[in-house]
Amino acid sequence: MTDEETGSEATSGGDESAPPEVDHESELPEDHPRYQSLLTRHRIEEGVERGITSTQGLIAEGRGEAFDYLLGEETLPSADAAARAAAAHLLLAEHPVLSVNGNVAALVPGEIVALADATGADIEVNLFNRSEERMAAIAEHLREHGADEVKGLAANARIPGIAHERAKVDADGIGAADVVLVPLEDGDRAEALGELGKTEIVIDLNPLSRSPRMAAVPIIDNIIRAVPNVTRHARSLSDASREELVRVLQEFDREAALREAERAIREGDLE
Ligand code: ATP
Repeated sequence: MTDEETGSEATSGGDESAPPEVDHESELPEDHPRYQSLLTRHRIEEGVERGITSTQGLIAEGRGEAFDYLLGEETLPSADAAARAAAAHLLLAEHPVLSVNGNVAALVPGEIVALADATGADIEVNLFNRSEERMAAIAEHLREHGADEVKGLAANARIPGIAHERAKVDADGIGAADVVLVPLEDGDRAEALGELGKTEIVIDLNPLSRSPRMAAVPIIDNIIRAVPNVTRHARSLSDASREELVRVLQEFDREAALREAERAIREGDLE
């Protein structure tokens, strides 16, 4: 990247790098240097307008975007290895569940459905700021993107150790899961799920955040890239034996994945 480009992107002040106003994401210019960021913002804005994403979700998005900028908006090899280990965990699981919050639903609804199909996982809506309206809007949005069954509405079980509303899960969903994908999750709930003995896969752009630090598999990547990447690995591993899948897990080094992402963020030259 040239100095000139870096300067114009960093300030984003009324030049060609300013996000264009569009009605549909297909109108976003794919050759724009910040295309992924524009796409992410557009989907989150639309999520807020549709009552799927909370306004808090906008703040989480801004936080993630800063890390993605420093990663050069690219999937690191260590994040790809994590995505492969995540796929192996989901394929080996007795009862895998993909947990969906407002940002996840806005950003990757169809991609979550594809991952559930590729791994036989359930999809469960689980919100920090739970309201029946938002739960229903998200479930409907996921169904529009092809989901057959969306869990989370029964809320007939509780995760011990966290406040009432946030603790609600389905007994036959996250309640019974052995492996849970919890993208963009706050540290408290990730910790509480971990204490129940569930294997956690976390997608989060911040390698210093508590949730990826306690995950069996931290995928430090933008969810927009990470979910399709896990699906791709799950498809390529679909005929693998149990032994091969276990080997994928054994070869994955979670500490190295966190370290590599932190190093890239701190020392990356954005070339
Ligand atoms: P903790 O309690 O673990 O410290 P936190 O306070 O960092 O969590 P939030 O502020 O709720 O958690 O933010 C959610 C997390 O999601 C942030 O770490 C942010 O980097 C991450 N995030 C936001 N957008 C994305 C995205 N598109 N892809 C991946 N991660 C994202």
